[in-house]
Amino acid sequence: MCEQICPVSAISFEADQEGFWYPSVNYDKCVQCGKCIGLCPPFSGVDKRLENDPSPKVFAAWSKDESLRLNSTSGAIYGELARYVFEHGGWVAGVVFDENFDAKHIVTNNQQDFDRLIRSKYFQSDTQDIYSQVRKLLEQGEFVLFSGTPCQNAALINFLGKRYDNLLSCDFICRGNLSPKAFRKYKQMLERDAGSKLKELHFKNKTKGWNTFGTRAVFENGKEYYQDRYSDLYVLAYVHHNLFLRPSCLKCKFKTLPRIADISFGDFWEVAQNVDPSLDDNKGTSVLMANNKKAMHFIEQIRDRLALYPTTVECVYEGNRCLFESAKRGEKRDIVFKNIDKYDFDVLIKKFTTPSRVKLLKNRIINGVKCLLRK
Ligand SMILES: Cc1cc2nc3c(=O)[nH]c(=O)nc-3n(C[C@H](O)[C@H](O)[C@H](O)COP(=O)(O)OP(=O)(O)OC[C@H]3O[C@@H](n4cnc5c(N)ncnc54)[C@H](O)[C@@H]3O)c2cc1C
Repeated sequence: MCEQICPVSAISFEADQEGFWYPSVNYDKCVQCGKCIGLCPPFSGVDKRLENDPSPKVFAAWSKDESLRLNSTSGAIYGELARYVFEHGGWVAGVVFDENFDAKHIVTNNQQDFDRLIRSKYFQSDTQDIYSQVRKLLEQGEFVLFSGTPCQNAALINFLGKRYDNLLSCDFICRGNLSPKAFRKYKQMLERDAGSKLKELHFKNKTKGWNTFGTRAVFENGKEYYQDRYSDLYVLAYVHHNLFLRPSCLKCKFKTLPRIADISFGDFWEVAQNVDPSLDDNKGTSVLMANNKKAMHFIEQIRDRLALYPTTVECVYEGNRCLFESAKRGEKRDIVFKNIDKYDFDVLIKKFTTPSRVKLLKNRIINGVKCLLRK
């Protein structure tokens, strides 16, 4: 956002050793206007929050279109919204994999991009010049559906600097963003093992049910890969060991109410325990939050396409702590990043996350004693 707002193009982005982009200022060009810092959400906050409801309407929800739902990460609410916007001649700004499997924000009114736009790509997207492109379309009177992380939504709101009725913004409950470099290493490992280039990659794939948190990959030579959350090393590193997260995500400033975007999505983990057992059929149940009247208006437009059950923020939070809490810094995060260039992805993860034999023996003894005490 700061790169695009700078009046003299003095800001560019460079990746650090961990693979995260940071702004770099050319002080020979900089005219000290202060726009970059003045509009940067972590420094300046986000005005939009004032318009959103601190007590949003919350639903457990999913699309009634079984095929779309099975192809999406969660309950396919995003897919239903994007489809509605395309059908009505609007533009959709969201994240796709490009031909190298880099995650990029694009904006399109071409319905053929629909399948690329759905599904979460679990690492930081390159926003390119998306904020300028969205503003241009909004100024031309086009309708735009924007989706991204809460912080990307904050950047958009500050960049626009005014309210647009023809914008519908969406964010999601975010565990934190991962290093694109870590993802590239993971992809290299998958391609090495398959002996072929990656053709498709789906996180939280539902072939064996949503709750397995499976990762499915298809390769150009026809080989397929599927592993659940305990065996896929990337998901294991992300969810169980908190590796590869951007430092700013470990103290995220956007996990509060009111939310930043008009609509917020998420995974309704533990919906069976905390709301109603009938709401978990293992095909993906979403959290859907309407943060203002505009959001509710759009939810009404697609209401017939959704299964929708009112619930509360508290029920969401019970199963999804990421709503309000930043992920903890993984014990091995720093050492893993230090060694990221040295080892293949699998060697890296196993080397630093497999407990030592002594630790395993210790755990076995403790568990044995606990078991005896229970008996
Ligand atoms: C990095 C990341 C972390 C997440 N962490 C959590 C979490 O902790 N808890 C939780 O409940 N949900 C989390 N989600 C959201 C969750 O994965 C689902 O996207 C959400 O539940 C909506 O599902 P859906 O089926 O409606 O849409 P989907 O089919 O998942 O639609 C995906 C949407 O997310 C956008 N998107 C995809 N990848 C990215 C990316 N890298 N950066 C920005 N936007 C992207 C796409 O543009 C699209 O709008 C996370 C998503 C991402 C990308």
